[in-house]
Amino acid sequence: MTLARRAFAFAATVAGFALALPATAQEQVLNLYSARHYSTDEALYDNFTKATGIRINRVDADDAGILARLKSEGSSSPADVVLLVDAARLWRAEVDGLFQPVKSPTLESRIPAQLRGKDEGTGSQWFGFSTRARVIVYNKLALARGDVDSYEKLADPKLKGKVCTRSGSHPYNLSLFGAVLEHLGPEKTEAWLKAVNDNMARAPKGGDTDQIKAVASGECGVALSNSYYVARMMRSSNPDDRAAIEKVAVVFPNQQSWGTHLNIAGGAVARHAPHRAAAVRFLEYLASDSAQSYFANGNNEWPAVPGLKPDNPALQALGSFKSETIPVSSIGANQVRVQQMLDRVGFR
Ligand code: FE
Repeated sequence: MTLARRAFAFAATVAGFALALPATAQEQVLNLYSARHYSTDEALYDNFTKATGIRINRVDADDAGILARLKSEGSSSPADVVLLVDAARLWRAEVDGLFQPVKSPTLESRIPAQLRGKDEGTGSQWFGFSTRARVIVYNKLALARGDVDSYEKLADPKLKGKVCTRSGSHPYNLSLFGAVLEHLGPEKTEAWLKAVNDNMARAPKGGDTDQIKAVASGECGVALSNSYYVARMMRSSNPDDRAAIEKVAVVFPNQQSWGTHLNIAGGAVARHAPHRAAAVRFLEYLASDSAQSYFANGNNEWPAVPGLKPDNPALQALGSFKSETIPVSSIGANQVRVQQMLDRVGFR
């Protein structure tokens, strides 16, 4: 963290309300609350400052921390732009009134409607800037691709004692299950969740990388993971990571039906942004070709803007795939219902 950023974070933490660094009379600033923490993002922000003269004060926290902070700061929040890393959390922030609509021809033409938040004629509340797929990872010695090539098959009694996942209530899973609810309807989705839970090799625990490692070790036969954790292990300088990833195979599920579930990392203009024009300009900058490749590559994701090819050997090795086409906003809206289903079937 730079001294300026630390000072800003300190001031905002202590006072808990609108306190930006004292700026010189002409200086333009942008206060960015970010749940992203990738080294490539530094270049992304520097390039924005070089192009616009707008200096960025960054506050880093995780998604939940940022949402809590925006709520406690209320109308005196210094936040201009908010970057989060999951559709369900973006939806939650929108519902909680933490964003404001943005009407931008640039963003509307660059970011597909499917990857944007609600637009009730006033503009979208948030925009996806990169996409990640929720893939299935299986042990090549234990299972065959045909056993696990759809989310539905994770419920097959053949997989009894073989399925692993992080907590069902984690936003990545809530978003996937919310998508399944869109595709299958409530009855089939709840039956599916119950059957998947009955197939567990162990109680849900850890993160996605832990599931991949447990599949590699043979403790689990099959698991769910976000694609970038797979790509990260493929590109890892740690020989143990690469040895583990060699033992597993990756499936983009549901290629014969509705397509693989996509989630997003995205951004929005904060409800009480003191520098609204700069905030919109920053979001538009994130949709530019060069920023898109930095933004996506920083976490081994795919650009949200169609037609851009990621320059990333792991993503190239994973190849192209068919993704679902339902709006990510409807996935967020389903998360309360799927959490209730999880509670009923005992999926922790
Ligand atoms: Fe993650």
